[in-house]
Amino acid sequence: MRNGHRVSGWLDGYVALVTGGGSGIGRAVAERFVTEGASVTILGRNLDRLDEVVRSSPDPSRMHAVAADVRDSDQLHAAVAETVQRFGKLDTLVTNAGIWDYQRQLTRLTGKELSDTFDELFSINVKGYFLAAEAAWRELVKTRGSIVMTLSNASFYVNGGGPVYTASKHACLGLMRELAYELAPKIRVNGVACGGMNTDLRGPESLALQDRSLATSFAKKTTDTPPPPIPLHDSSTDPRDFTGSYVLLASREQSGPITGQAISVDGGIGVRGFASAAGGDHL
Ligand code: NAD
Repeated sequence: MRNGHRVSGWLDGYVALVTGGGSGIGRAVAERFVTEGASVTILGRNLDRLDEVVRSSPDPSRMHAVAADVRDSDQLHAAVAETVQRFGKLDTLVTNAGIWDYQRQLTRLTGKELSDTFDELFSINVKGYFLAAEAAWRELVKTRGSIVMTLSNASFYVNGGGPVYTASKHACLGLMRELAYELAPKIRVNGVACGGMNTDLRGPESLALQDRSLATSFAKKTTDTPPPPIPLHDSSTDPRDFTGSYVLLASREQSGPITGQAISVDGGIGVRGFASAAGGDHL
């Protein structure tokens, strides 16, 4: 019983830490985990925003906000320690914080822009996953816990970003597989390869795209262009509809023998692929 309500979900009694939990899919996963019975620390750069998510949570007593930058190992270690101090242990790490490159193609970048964008985007999307895993593994060993990484259709296919984003998400797929091997048998490591979702996903400061939000592009696409050729093209882009696979992979009761796997939740892009975008005519 908690707050007079019987809690009985797939993650009853679990403790999770979600990076980038203040918005988008990270927030949706954190809220779903609470609904499934877990206690969750949400980590992000903007404490006011995180506090607002905690206040509006289904059960604020089972959510905790920590301000940290995923590029900073010390801050990630402190977030893990704070989670254990507050909730007693750590069962699940969801590495999720990321930015997009707004499909900026190689031929539209100067050498300096490419260098700066690579450093910024890889330090968040890739190093941020490395550092969070390093900060958490000791606690995850104690609970026989797991890591669930937010991957992307761009972990498998082209044109889900520009080359910098696509390379970063391919890198995360490799990291997921390598860690699944290295951390077995005590920690499982899996991924959820999301397709397009209507979120606040931002761009790199190095391209002055830090204030651009993907939600604006989604609104524009809905009115200006026909839907993309995705088999389930009328499927939802609401991040809440992408959370089920995170619950499945986090639950050792439901997916105990699964490690090193990515579940694609992308409307079936892999069945048919993206339509050709007439590559090369911009050269
Ligand atoms: P979002 O912007 O709503 O969420 C990303 C979160 O990460 C934000 O809260 C942001 O503040 C946080 N963040 C960014 N940089 C950070 C840093 N340095 N330190 C700490 N927190 C930081 O966007 P989203 O779409 O929910 O993105 C979450 C993940 O989903 C990303 O890894 C993204 O690549 C992936 N993804 C998104 C889509 C999509 O269409 N939106 C598709 C596939 C994969």
